[in-house]
Amino acid sequence: MRIVFIGPPGAGKGTQAERLAEKYRIAHLSTGDMLRAARDARTEVGCEADKYMSAGQLVPDAIIIRIIQARLEEPDCQRGYLLDGFPRTITQAEALDEMLAQRGTPLDVVLELDVPEDELFNRLAGRGRTDDTPEVIRQRLVAYREQTQPLLDYYGERGLLKTIDGLGTIEEIFERATAVLNDYA
Ligand code: ADP
Repeated sequence: MRIVFIGPPGAGKGTQAERLAEKYRIAHLSTGDMLRAARDARTEVGCEADKYMSAGQLVPDAIIIRIIQARLEEPDCQRGYLLDGFPRTITQAEALDEMLAQRGTPLDVVLELDVPEDELFNRLAGRGRTDDTPEVIRQRLVAYREQTQPLLDYYGERGLLKTIDGLGTIEEIFERATAVLNDYA
């Protein structure tokens, strides 16, 4: 199973992604987690990425594409994976398509978690992560709207997009997600 999981910041995507990857026994590839780990380990890439992350901006495509390319080579990805937070731009989506075409391993489905923007702001403001100041939150929502939302058309045109309602309990949303993903398991 190869899944892309798309949703705005604050949608609860990380929580669902972790549970879904466990249920289907596939790797959970969270680019946000990878970048935070690199930042905390103070690697060169991590320090470079931090400049963008702390401002609520997307890290440059070239950096993130290189990270994902290396990650997909690892043995735990051979059974499949759930991409959480990648791709986030059309350039990243095109790079992913190219990587997967070379491997002959196309995506099965792109799952969108749909949550209205006013709900997101409240949730993010309540989360208390150090990068969650109001200005940074606003910037992250703008980045989502301008750079990531176009992917919904990109994958829609390719017949890959499935959207679920992201309002409800963790359990309810998990049920909706598995109702879609069971078709590809
Ligand atoms: P969020 O809390 O916005 O859902 P994540 O934990 O997925 O965010 O990512 C945190 C930050 O890491 C993003 O705001 C962005 O700066 C960076 N990031 C993560 N994934 C990507 C990506 N695919 N492309 C560019 N930047 C990324």
